[in-house]
Amino acid sequence: MNLHEYQAKELLSRYGVPVQRGLVAYTAEEAVSNYAQLQQTTGTKWAVVKAQIHAGGRGKGGGVKLAKNADEVREKAGNIIGMMLKTPQTPGGMDGEGKLVRKVLITEDVYYPNAEGKMDTKEFYMSILTDRATKTNVIVYSTEGGMDIEKVAEETPHLVHKEYAHPHLGIQGYQMRKIAFNLGLSGAAFKSMVKFVEQLYNAYTQADCALIEINPCLKTSDDKIIAADGKITLDGNALYRHPDLAAYRDTDEEDPTEVEAGSFDLNFVKLDGNVGCMVNGAGLAMATMDIIQLSGGQPANFLDVGGTADAKRVENAFRIILKDPNVKAILINIFGGIVRCERVAQGVIDAYNNIGNIQVPIIVRLQGTNADIAKELIDKSGLAVHSAITLQEAADLVKKLVK
Ligand code: GDP
Ligand code: MN
Repeated sequence: MNLHEYQAKELLSRYGVPVQRGLVAYTAEEAVSNYAQLQQTTGTKWAVVKAQIHAGGRGKGGGVKLAKNADEVREKAGNIIGMMLKTPQTPGGMDGEGKLVRKVLITEDVYYPNAEGKMDTKEFYMSILTDRATKTNVIVYSTEGGMDIEKVAEETPHLVHKEYAHPHLGIQGYQMRKIAFNLGLSGAAFKSMVKFVEQLYNAYTQADCALIEINPCLKTSDDKIIAADGKITLDGNALYRHPDLAAYRDTDEEDPTEVEAGSFDLNFVKLDGNVGCMVNGAGLAMATMDIIQLSGGQPANFLDVGGTADAKRVENAFRIILKDPNVKAILINIFGGIVRCERVAQGVIDAYNNIGNIQVPIIVRLQGTNADIAKELIDKSGLAVHSAITLQEAADLVKKLVK
């Protein structure tokens, strides 16, 4: 589950990670009063208005603006709230339709000069994630933080460093010092960085994160180390241990069909092809998507109905797939191991009749316990449902129907 920047910073603060302080606003007026409040609590002169959407690269799309007085805060917040923000990470990228901004974070300005009036900020990159190859958590960091870390990784990969945490001991002192050293720090900033890494790592493990990405991780002119941005992905399977974090979910940011599928306990991921598929088991679902592709179609979704593909689930799955106007055919591929195939077949027939007026052709491939009885049921139902037993038959039908 993805968090907004303001939620990520809230979480990090709870683990003692220093962050750029801010307050969320839903209107321009609220933004102005947040600014006044921040001036009092933090002493900041200026403020930054930051669009809160589940996508990075906001700065590039005009979703992060510096404001130097209350009028500018009002104007910039007013412009950003309600805009369709396009970033390299929103659907379709910079040429796509963008994402609606519903709220902004008003933050203190952390790019200020030091006591001698000299600007001495440094932008670092730091993230923590679980590395599947080594089965350990890894801290990825670089001196080249800011907005273009993807480019840095591609063009100058030697500037991206990694520190692997010991599975039992976690990230150790010498590793944190190595990170601070490699980032070119000394004195107070060095010490602050060591502490920063330690607290960030604690947040990662204790909150059951799947990703923490801080870009920029900022060294301020007066040698503080703070998270000026924060992206966190929580491990959805561990959310039951963190009801407070589960409450951070923002369904406005998710695909509406995926949200609905989730409420029916269906594992659904929307894709942009033309053949809908309904499968039991994630592995079979992946294989089915390959078959669709090989037959000249494009999968319109990933859908795992789970082990108990009963009539109600089949019907819900049907309704979800049919919401997509791009779907030209539906391939149902069920292996009857725990479920008996004729029960699934009856489920398909019932769902078909209940929904009524289904325009797209349906191919049903049932294999396993009582597959022959199931095929007979479908063939005799008189519905525009094609049955297949082998994968080849199903693939040939897809080929014929999408043409
Ligand atoms: P992203 O573009 O979605 O990654 O959003 P960020 O939170 O990283 O902000 C983008 C850019 O805004 C940063 O790289 C900074 O250059 C700038 N920025 C962020 N916070 C401040 C701030 O407090 N003051 C100033 N002057 N610039 C800031
Ligand atoms: Mn950033």
